[in-house]
Amino acid sequence: MSDSLQAPTAAAKPNPYQVAQQQFEKAADFMDLPGYLRQILSQPKNELIVNFPVKLDNGEYRLFKGYRVQHNNVLGPYKGGIRYHHEVTLDEIKALGAWMTYKCALHDIPFGGAKGGIKFNPRDYSAGELERITRRFTFALGQNIGPEHDIPAPDVGTNAQVMVWMMDTYVSLAGSEQPHVGRGVVTGKTIAAGGSHGREQATGQGIVHCITEWARDARCELNGATFAVQGFGNVGSHVSKILARTGASLTAAGDWKGYISNGEGINPYKLSEYVQRTGSVVGYPGTHTIPREQFFATEVDILIPAALELEIGVPEARAIRCKLIAEGANGPTDPRAEPILLEKGVHIIPDILANSGGVAVSYYEWLQNKRSEVWDLEEVEERLAKRMKRTFLAVSEYAATRKCDWRTAAMCLALGRIAKAYGERGIFP
Ligand code: NAD
Repeated sequence: MSDSLQAPTAAAKPNPYQVAQQQFEKAADFMDLPGYLRQILSQPKNELIVNFPVKLDNGEYRLFKGYRVQHNNVLGPYKGGIRYHHEVTLDEIKALGAWMTYKCALHDIPFGGAKGGIKFNPRDYSAGELERITRRFTFALGQNIGPEHDIPAPDVGTNAQVMVWMMDTYVSLAGSEQPHVGRGVVTGKTIAAGGSHGREQATGQGIVHCITEWARDARCELNGATFAVQGFGNVGSHVSKILARTGASLTAAGDWKGYISNGEGINPYKLSEYVQRTGSVVGYPGTHTIPREQFFATEVDILIPAALELEIGVPEARAIRCKLIAEGANGPTDPRAEPILLEKGVHIIPDILANSGGVAVSYYEWLQNKRSEVWDLEEVEERLAKRMKRTFLAVSEYAATRKCDWRTAAMCLALGRIAKAYGERGIFP
């Protein structure tokens, strides 16, 4: 195995915004998108950077850098997650915001695209410090977010609790006469604080809908199939648990600390409990630790990247031995690696299709908050299944009739909706 399969740092990876641009330009060329739309979509509408101080438990102060990038809102309010990670950069947030625009457009969800984050490692801070960092960040964002303007959600390093702190801070500051309306300022909240049933597992559930549709078309029996998952947080753990219900077996997993495998299968429910207790998959009883290069070289039917962007570069693509990559993470595949995978016959379900279950149920949560309704889990799951299958079919048909790869097909469908809206509205003044 070569050293080039060592985990790349963010600095060693391609610039994610340039990657998002390349994907955009490829689709724009393919569908002959008008030049004025290329210009508009090539940059976010707004880029906000805030520096804010927070008092730590030891009495000292630290200055944090936070971002919120609003890419486009022609189809509805800005929408996108908040990331807490020590390698967050403006260009990463710009890429993630653009992908949100295309994801919502692809699924015909009336939201635009945005993303935000704070550059720090949340594992180094206490719960009290995380609460103060979150509340102070929300204060710094001020009226740049709002239930009809820009609606954050969880992403890497954040969860339902972080969303509840954001919502509570926003509602407390807004001084609204109808504070319950302000709850829709974020999605992915706890149920008690106005979240939706099914939101926590929605991204994983959506990925499994895509995998099930692909398996039927590819005549691949999921019962007895094997899969590997990189990243065992919200997306990775839920996709593993839900996919295991089809009879498929998790044989390798990995996270920030390392990688594990067991060819006989790993119980994702017990692994999830172990990660809750210890913070990593490493050391889970009954598995052996493997190097990162071995994880990517493991022969499986399905590989699910569910960690950070650009983890699948050229060396990983050469090593990978699977039939399907279902992109749980946003932007996990380097454009230079993609042709190698496609050439090998690996099918790729692109991120804006595969991992969109989260934003779909976020939209349902926002609707429930707006209407003061509570939908039961069955209703949420039915709506999600219908939407995922409909979009999967649309992408599949587009790719087959226009003879292009699925990422280009998904991007073209999304850009087509955005172009129609701009075409009819025109550009003010
Ligand atoms: P999370 O914080 O819950 O989990 C992230 C996982 O990635 C953790 O297991 C972490 O240990 C692992 N990880 C971090 N750095 C790593 C590294 N260098 N190498 C290997 N593993 C590493 O985050 P999440 O919400 O599960 O998000 C995962 C991915 O899915 C991200 O790309 C995110 O943008 C995308 N996504 C999330 C949602 C959602 O609803 N949460 C929706 C759509 C897309």
